[in-house]
Amino acid sequence: MAQQSQSNTEPTKIECPHCGSHECFNQVEGLPDLSVVESYMCMECGYTSTTLNKEGSEVVERYEESTAELIKALRWIDPKTNLVWYPIVLNFPTFGIIFPDGTGTDNWNWKAAPAVDIIEEEKTKYPIPGQPGQFYERRIDMKQGRDFASTDFYNACKFLGFIQ
Ligand SMILES: [Zn+2]
Repeated sequence: MAQQSQSNTEPTKIECPHCGSHECFNQVEGLPDLSVVESYMCMECGYTSTTLNKEGSEVVERYEESTAELIKALRWIDPKTNLVWYPIVLNFPTFGIIFPDGTGTDNWNWKAAPAVDIIEEEKTKYPIPGQPGQFYERRIDMKQGRDFASTDFYNACKFLGFIQ
């Protein structure tokens, strides 16, 4: 097993500064340079942040360079901490994908689409980049995708089986 940093702790639940629910997971992680980063992930509103996400920081700037316009538009800055929160994108090859979908801050929802097995005859259509002769076993099936209200991240997770 890989050696884990010893200062990592089990996630604890805190009150979400973004939506006020008590389903926000807070994890404290020690970095190799001995600094400590806290990360936040709310299962109710789907927003996430870390203590590195200070408004105006290089971390935020770099993240936004490669992030979808909608996610940037949906950013929320915690007035108490100045940390920038974003709706999360979850992409697990075995389960599926969840991402914010829509045209703007007043018109968006969560889109959840499951991963399905690729049938033998179609495998060659799904090559793994950089691994000649290797093919994916599962793919995201957008046709089976479902929309969930922007306040209903929890059920989007349940739909894909991330949580029971
Ligand atoms: Zn929340």
